Amino acid sequence: MSEIVSVDVPNDPSLFDKIVNLSKRRGFVFPSAEIYGGFRSTYDYGPIGVLLLRNVKDAWWRAMVQMRDDIVGLDAAILSPPAIWEASGHLANFTDPLVDCKVCNERFRLDKLDDPNTCPNCNSKDSFTEARQFNLMFKTYAGPLAESGAEVYLRPETAQGMFVDFANVLQTSRKKPPFGIAQIGKSFRNEITPGNFVFRTREFEQMEMEYFVPPDEASKYYEYWCTERFQWYLDLGIPADKLRLRPHDEDELSHYSSGTSDVEFLFPWGWDELEGIANRGDYDLTQHANASGEKLDYFDPATNTRYTPHVIEPAAGATRTMMAFLLAAYDEEEVRGELRTVLRLHHRLAPYKVAVLPLSKKDTLTPVAREVLKSLQPHFMCDYDETQNIGKRYRRQDELGTPYCVTVDFDSLEDAAVTVRERDSMEQDRVPIADLLAYFRERLD
Ligand code: ATP
Repeated sequence: MSEIVSVDVPNDPSLFDKIVNLSKRRGFVFPSAEIYGGFRSTYDYGPIGVLLLRNVKDAWWRAMVQMRDDIVGLDAAILSPPAIWEASGHLANFTDPLVDCKVCNERFRLDKLDDPNTCPNCNSKDSFTEARQFNLMFKTYAGPLAESGAEVYLRPETAQGMFVDFANVLQTSRKKPPFGIAQIGKSFRNEITPGNFVFRTREFEQMEMEYFVPPDEASKYYEYWCTERFQWYLDLGIPADKLRLRPHDEDELSHYSSGTSDVEFLFPWGWDELEGIANRGDYDLTQHANASGEKLDYFDPATNTRYTPHVIEPAAGATRTMMAFLLAAYDEEEVRGELRTVLRLHHRLAPYKVAVLPLSKKDTLTPVAREVLKSLQPHFMCDYDETQNIGKRYRRQDELGTPYCVTVDFDSLEDAAVTVRERDSMEQDRVPIADLLAYFRERLD
């Protein structure tokens, strides 16, 4: 291994640009509507990005729903009537303070400015207008007439669907507190200053879970979910020195929250939020019960009492988290005098698990390579690539984060075996084709 020299990427100030370039070049993320000049701060997830994003969401769903018997899933509507947002408080309060610079006319979110008196665009002092509260919800109209009765909103978070369906889920799932409802889906916010690639966009995906508990157990479960959620990122390969749990100060807390902590990642611009875990009390269920006139509580037959459960909410962003995984996985090293770029993604997240690469595009090798591909495809997401020289194809798979490459060569025709190359160590194993599935199952499952 003496030929490998590690390049210290974490301190590399150009890491952000490298990720944006790699994303475009290799098909992770494209700027949206590019042939029409682009549409500011919206992105499309390309052939590789759609796999990575799906794997992030699957890893969350696996941890939050599949591996537990106390959490069930939901997929609620995106279009929603104003009544929901009136009751939740979003119509009145889901606002950010907006200021305009009177010199350069740029707009900013006041609470995100390093210095609230200096324009970061033109450096003018005291050039801002008075802050105005700007509601972040997208409003549209259902049906052919744009009249006030037809107003609907695109949801700005997935959470409210879980509160509104609380009674339906309680009745049909046979769960009782403590239990949770989990949801993954798109949310929309008319952000004043979207930016930093997919970190802050107007259309994004969230992974949220509402955990309903007896009121006197809320603190215990708040601590529990802070620990669980922090560990999830570590388990999927975010290094411990790039992750922290930051409890909110008193003045940051929403009026109904008795505790909130953010899981933060060390982005190239500094620490920033991946997920918030909040102890929301009985605020949400009470608001919707009062506004709808429906009972949103739980009758406990064991104690013969009725109570409104308190809620612990871990709320994460799927697209933002995908970006953090890309940043954390990016590595460069010098191999025999050449720079190798490699995404050291956790196997569970890697877009392709295995790439099948016939050594050359020869009639004799292709049928064997296709057979190998066909035998692995039902079990793992695989790529197949027979163009360019093998070195270039390995480099491409390194940049996609593919953990294993299988090379079918001329010896394969004789010994019915293939060469398996591991991404991180680049070590190679000769494996009989008949044993290949078991070999990968052992390493990838
Ligand atoms: P911020 O302070 O960054 O605006 P927030 O605290 O309002 O975020 P939440 O409402 O708690 O965010 O949303 C939960 C998660 O959803 C966030 O931690 C983040 O990962 C994700 N998220 C929120 N807004 C956006 C956005 N505009 N683009 C991408 N992801 C987002």
